[in-house]
Amino acid sequence: MLTPKQIDDVIAFHGHLCPGLTFGMRVGDWVLHEFGRAEDEEIVAVVETDMCSVDAIQFLTGCTFGKGNFIFLDYGKNAYSFFRRSDGKNVRLTTRGGLLHDLREEQNQLAKDDSEERKNIQQKMIEKILSADFEEIFAIAPAQIPMPETAKIHVSIRCEQCGEMVMSTRIEIIDGKQLCIPCRKK
Ligand SMILES: [Zn+2]
Ligand SMILES: [Zn+2]
Repeated sequence: MLTPKQIDDVIAFHGHLCPGLTFGMRVGDWVLHEFGRAEDEEIVAVVETDMCSVDAIQFLTGCTFGKGNFIFLDYGKNAYSFFRRSDGKNVRLTTRGGLLHDLREEQNQLAKDDSEERKNIQQKMIEKILSADFEEIFAIAPAQIPMPETAKIHVSIRCEQCGEMVMSTRIEIIDGKQLCIPCRKK
C-alpha cells in the first residue's frame, strides 16, 4: 500500500485527484513491490495511453519520459508494460472493464459536469479503485513486445535549413541537404 505521503506527493505532481490518477497509483504501487524502483534505467515502462494515470506511474516507479525508460505508444489503451533489465522479468497490465463500468455509466448520465452527484460518483470510483484487490481491476499477463533497447545518446547535426542542432537519428538528407523533421515538412 502507498503511504498517505506518497499519495499526497502524486496528487501534488499531477495537480488534482482523479480516477485516472488513482489507477496509476495502483499500478505504481504494484510495480514498486514486484519490480522495485528505477533509480536509473533498470526498469522500463511502455504505456499505451497518455491519460492521467501515467503521471502517477512516472512519479512512483522512477520510469520517466526524460530518462528514456518511459515509452509512450499512442494506442489509446489502458495498458502498461514493465520490463526489468537485470533478469528480463516483464508484465503487461490491462484494466478490466467490469468493476467500474456501471459507475462510469451512471456518471455519464448525469447532466452537469460539476454537479454534486457527479462528484460523489467520482469519489466513489476513486475509493473503489484504491480499495479493490489489484487483480479485480487489472489483468496480469506477460508483455507482448520484446524489451526496449536502452536509451542511446546520439551526436547532433546542424539542420541546413533552420540552422538548429538536431539528434542525428532525426536528420534526413533531402535533395542533398541535411534537414530536420519540421523543415522536411515545409
Ligand atoms: Zn487527472
Ligand atoms: Zn530545420
